Amino acid sequence: MLENIKERMLAILIIFHISPIIFWKYLKVAKHIKLILVFTSLKMIGVTGGLHRLWTHKSYNTTKIIKYILAFFANASFQGSIKMWTSNHRMHHTYEESNPSLDPYSIKKGFWWI
Ligand SMILES: [Zn+2]
Repeated sequence: MLENIKERMLAILIIFHISPIIFWKYLKVAKHIKLILVFTSLKMIGVTGGLHRLWTHKSYNTTKIIKYILAFFANASFQGSIKMWTSNHRMHHTYEESNPSLDPYSIKKGFWWI
């Protein structure tokens, strides 16, 4: 059980999304919705600005402290390590048109593509 990275990531994602439902009655909703919106936005910046534009495409460079901050929020999104994410995304751009069977995010692999 949970022997490969896909199963572990799936388990983490399921726990992450179900836990607020389980603990819903303990949450002070208004405060937590604000916190969730802010944290979700920061995680999106970690993924798009960090994993995608900075480490995969090397679109820009920045200071070490900004890299650490981006890495923190990117990892909080549970999309895998920086190394794995950038590797898979580069393969995606390389093979999405020429050889979709080698594209890790190919639409032809169906819904469970992770
Ligand atoms: Zn890209």
